[in-house]
Amino acid sequence: MKNKKTKVVIAGGGTTGWVTAYALAKRLGPVLDIRLIESEKIGTVGVGEATVPTLRSFHALLEIDEREFLSATQGTFKLGIKFDNWANIGDSYIHSFGRVGKTTWMTEFHAFWLEAHAHGLGGELSDYCLEWKAAGEGKCALKANDTDVNVAYHINATAYAQYLRSKAEQLGVKRQEGMISDVELCPETGNITELKMDNGEAARGEFFIDCTGFRSVLLGQGLGVEFEDWGHWLAADRAWATQSKTEGAGPPYTRAIAHPMGWQWQTPVQERTGEGIVYSSQFCSDDEARATLVNNLAGPEAHEPRLLKFRTGRRRQAWKKNCVAIGLANGFLEPLESTSIHLITTAVTRLMRLFPTSMDMAELAARYNAESKFELEEVRNFLILHYNLTERGDTEFWRFYRDMEIPDDLRHRMDVFKRNGYIWPDGVNLFRVDSWLQVMIGQGLFPEHYHRAGGILGAERLEQQLKAMRDKVDRDLATMPGHTEFVRQYCPADLYAKGNMRASA
Ligand SMILES: Cc1cc2nc3c(=O)[nH]c(=O)nc-3n(C[C@H](O)[C@H](O)[C@H](O)COP(=O)(O)OP(=O)(O)OC[C@H]3O[C@@H](n4cnc5c(N)ncnc54)[C@H](O)[C@@H]3O)c2cc1C
Repeated sequence: MKNKKTKVVIAGGGTTGWVTAYALAKRLGPVLDIRLIESEKIGTVGVGEATVPTLRSFHALLEIDEREFLSATQGTFKLGIKFDNWANIGDSYIHSFGRVGKTTWMTEFHAFWLEAHAHGLGGELSDYCLEWKAAGEGKCALKANDTDVNVAYHINATAYAQYLRSKAEQLGVKRQEGMISDVELCPETGNITELKMDNGEAARGEFFIDCTGFRSVLLGQGLGVEFEDWGHWLAADRAWATQSKTEGAGPPYTRAIAHPMGWQWQTPVQERTGEGIVYSSQFCSDDEARATLVNNLAGPEAHEPRLLKFRTGRRRQAWKKNCVAIGLANGFLEPLESTSIHLITTAVTRLMRLFPTSMDMAELAARYNAESKFELEEVRNFLILHYNLTERGDTEFWRFYRDMEIPDDLRHRMDVFKRNGYIWPDGVNLFRVDSWLQVMIGQGLFPEHYHRAGGILGAERLEQQLKAMRDKVDRDLATMPGHTEFVRQYCPADLYAKGNMRASA
């Protein structure tokens, strides 16, 4: 591979394919020759509209202009997720992206709040977090006084792939239309040598990236890498997806509304809302799920719902021989915490750090696979937490989650919090202490004990300090505009659509 361009073939042109193509072209373009194959006949999964804040830093690495990108994708802002009916019917909490209060080196903020709470002081936990309060009041900004606001986005998934495609093509990525019908392997090495298409064309390469979605055409079908099924922990295997017509930017959060047989997402972009229902075919019929979705839309239905079938889990190796699978081709975790696009971006950055230096890539692949497995398991455990903390016993669906065995490391984490109030971030730094705290407290898991540092100041001085923090949040909040107003001023869709902006590579 030395002194010549490595021939990279990307199979698939959904969000994964075009994110991968653009990132590689932007940062490794001079040493790569990149070709992307996709089939219009197959199309893309066409959902995936809610994100987490890491997309902002990923875009910064790739010099993607935020206003241009949001305008091109009819994007809006997201400060967290509002969960309705999860622990019990009628309850509601927000998992926001903000920091809650101030921590010390010895203990997290919640020890102080719990101490105040025990004295009937301290207000609500949400009073200490700007993003949490702003979400509740429908406000948004990127900065409030001197405070940076931690935001994610809601985007039009199809427009996002198109936007990245135009940028990738400007950087020299070649797109080839065709349906891959055969994956040719070298009989000696077992490496992929070329992809054959149904139109008689072929694409030869040295390194292949499988972005073919659930089909996993290269890694799963071509190289025979098995799927590890996590359906015994996350039983959902189907979704209906549609859109409703709504006005403005909608609320600055995703909604995750629990129903008796599953849960419904609502992800508002400009002038419409992405809607869907996630459920398990073990516990409910397609017709029942569809009717629940259609009867609970945020606005008038914009088109017929589409049925999507999926398996939860991962390929046992994400990288085998000279092929790595990214996105749905590697695995899937249901969209409860909107993590799939995040996992695409971390996979792409991991690949760029471990990019093959020769055709002998087994060691790099082993390192990549270890990191990928660990990351997916961390996200999986956080999702299981939401379900397992339910107290609902009204249907078979909720009883399954309430009563199931959970992974040992998650059990340990929940026990430590329940008895001692101690939380630590996940191992990949996606879900920080604040995230675990908001979901555990939000679903009614209060610790029996908490760090003794909480009691050092005494109730009166503690309350004075806590009030100062709450007042600061309120002062910041008062400067923030409404979400729709902010989107109209910062990134209206017509800015890009009218050609006032051109995608710059
Ligand atoms: C119900 C549901 C809700 C979701 N919600 C979210 C969310 O809120 N947030 C989030 O981050 N993610 C979400 N996701 C995940 C998100 O949709 C995907 O991670 C994202 O769209 C990337 O998909 P992909 O590009 O890997 O696959 P796809 O979109 O399926 O693209 C696959 C590509 O491969 C091509 N292809 C396939 N087979 C062949 C072949 N034989 N020959 C040639 N080309 C081929 C297709 O034409 C297509 O271009 C959700 C997923 C589901 C199922």
